[in-house]
Amino acid sequence: MSEPRHAMTSPFPARLDRVRNRLRNLGLDALAVSVGPDLPWLCGYEAMPLERLTMLVVPVDGPATLVVPALEAPRVNDRGDVTVRPWGEADDPIAIVDALVPRGAGVAIGDRTWARFLIEWQSRHGELRFERAQTVTGVLRERKEPSEIAVLQRAAAAVDGIAADLQSGTIPLVGRTEADVSADLSQRLLAAGHHRVNFAIVAAGANAASPHHEPGLRRIEAGEVVLCDFGGTMLDEFGVGSCSDITRCVWTGEPSSEVRDVYGVLERAQAAGVAAGEVGTACEDVDAACRRIIDDAGFGEFFIHRTGHGIGVEEHEDPYIVAGNRSVIEVGNAWSIEPGIYLPGRFGMRLEDIVVATEAGPLSLNRADHALAVVG
Ligand code: ZN
Ligand code: ZN
Ligand code: ZN
Repeated sequence: MSEPRHAMTSPFPARLDRVRNRLRNLGLDALAVSVGPDLPWLCGYEAMPLERLTMLVVPVDGPATLVVPALEAPRVNDRGDVTVRPWGEADDPIAIVDALVPRGAGVAIGDRTWARFLIEWQSRHGELRFERAQTVTGVLRERKEPSEIAVLQRAAAAVDGIAADLQSGTIPLVGRTEADVSADLSQRLLAAGHHRVNFAIVAAGANAASPHHEPGLRRIEAGEVVLCDFGGTMLDEFGVGSCSDITRCVWTGEPSSEVRDVYGVLERAQAAGVAAGEVGTACEDVDAACRRIIDDAGFGEFFIHRTGHGIGVEEHEDPYIVAGNRSVIEVGNAWSIEPGIYLPGRFGMRLEDIVVATEAGPLSLNRADHALAVVG
């Protein structure tokens, strides 16, 4: 007997209902999302970032319509949750979208929508009231469903395996360029089941003091740090992505006692950040719990970014683990804890895991070794 093609039921009708409830609560009439992560999250279709308009319109009462360029329509899997409305090259897609919302409506418009479409729509219908879709979808997307956590977990296990290969020396480093190792990590992300690579930062020696260093032609030498921060998007059976994101540092030769000391501070700070993520804790308090340890050790000025970011269909999304964010951790939230210590011109280090909030406490999805790793 063959297995049913979809063991799970489609998540989209329930998500569309949650959107409608949220619109109602906010006094809005419709959600209109174009390119960006809200669209696949709501219907499993990811639009190419084209000059032609793709827009999913979800009225507060009524069926959702996906307005899509006719030539893209064959890529849209019609699952019955949304009505597909293709438009031809000579049609006016703004007029088609406009006809789907009532006059004078309050519209939550996708944050990633090209400005040209919003400006054009606005200039034709000045009475429309626009808000960011983030106010509608952000709070919904940050409360992950069990099926989403399962994919986050699968993606985390995949990058853990690659991190373990870095730490064991299975992935050669010395003599290769950062760019070459980055390409290697990217290939491994795909081989491990990711649909797409989002980034593969490789930063050697003093380059590691720049948190988002662009891997270049610098050759990795013996006796230095190699910071690797990589992740991709894994798809569920409905075509919705969940992201992985991990950072580990390895040393190509015995590190100095100073490096060991600084790494010890980082490791303690990261563990404290993970442990602080109890349900009900404010995001800024999680940031503070992690930062305090680095501050107390005298490296506060070298931890130059927030402690972490939410993660899901998007690499960086709500909730942000940053000073000033008083929103509290809820069951199902997923975020990174990634403190770093960056000593300009010398070296840098960062340690990152993805954490999920459960009733039983914060659960780190990444299990790759946290200890200082020395290879070759
Ligand atoms: Zn980053
Ligand atoms: Zn990262
Ligand atoms: Zn991250």
